[in-house]
Amino acid sequence: MLPKYEAVCYELLRPEQVEALREAAPIAYVPAGSLEWHGLQNPLGTDALKAHAICCEAALGHGGVVLPPFYQGLLGYNNWGPEGWAGFTLSFNEGPTLEAAMLGIARALVFGGWKVIVGVSGHDVAPQRDAMQRAIETATRGTQAVGLALLEGELHSPDEEIPVSMDHAGAWETSCMMYAFPDKVELDALRKRKLCTEDQLKMSGPEGIGGKNPLKYASAELGGKIIERMGELIGRKARQMLEEVAPARD
Ligand SMILES: [Zn+2]
Repeated sequence: MLPKYEAVCYELLRPEQVEALREAAPIAYVPAGSLEWHGLQNPLGTDALKAHAICCEAALGHGGVVLPPFYQGLLGYNNWGPEGWAGFTLSFNEGPTLEAAMLGIARALVFGGWKVIVGVSGHDVAPQRDAMQRAIETATRGTQAVGLALLEGELHSPDEEIPVSMDHAGAWETSCMMYAFPDKVELDALRKRKLCTEDQLKMSGPEGIGGKNPLKYASAELGGKIIERMGELIGRKARQMLEEVAPARD
């Protein structure tokens, strides 16, 4: 994790620090992702780690705190990997399990005085986002709090600066990890096996990657742009929600 993120990680903060952050902007982020195959080059926890970094950027830019991620997200009995590499997935698999876990933490956050609860789904897994959304709706119903759940790349359209969109262990995900966890990515693991020769990779290939070839297009620089931009988009949205429920006083 980048040292700058420690300033907004709930579990690393003392009570007075959390109190000050809650006073300034009572926004709480809950990232989620599943442990699963992310190519030979990335760690299994890529989805949650990446979502956590995006949430930290959102909190640093627009206020709030970030909860430890759910590493057991929701994939739905998918133990996928390319030939010879299946069997690494660890996930809740059933929607109600993630929903119940998310409801538990969202309720606790509302009880603790947080006014905006934001779930961020690492990897664009719609059922994972939807389970978090239902939990947040239930937890905030009839209270002064609001919230929503988002896919990490939901608010983004590819442009000149970030010419990629969410993928599976391709240039997007690998770049994000190169930026936020540089010592955990090993591109040589692909190179030495002579994998990834095409520009655009399909999940069906032996490298088990879908998206733009990370050996050609991934970089820490691109990862920084993605994580900062997604954090900015999500943080701005959370801040807007906060201003609607708790308008700034002069
Ligand atoms: Zn992923």
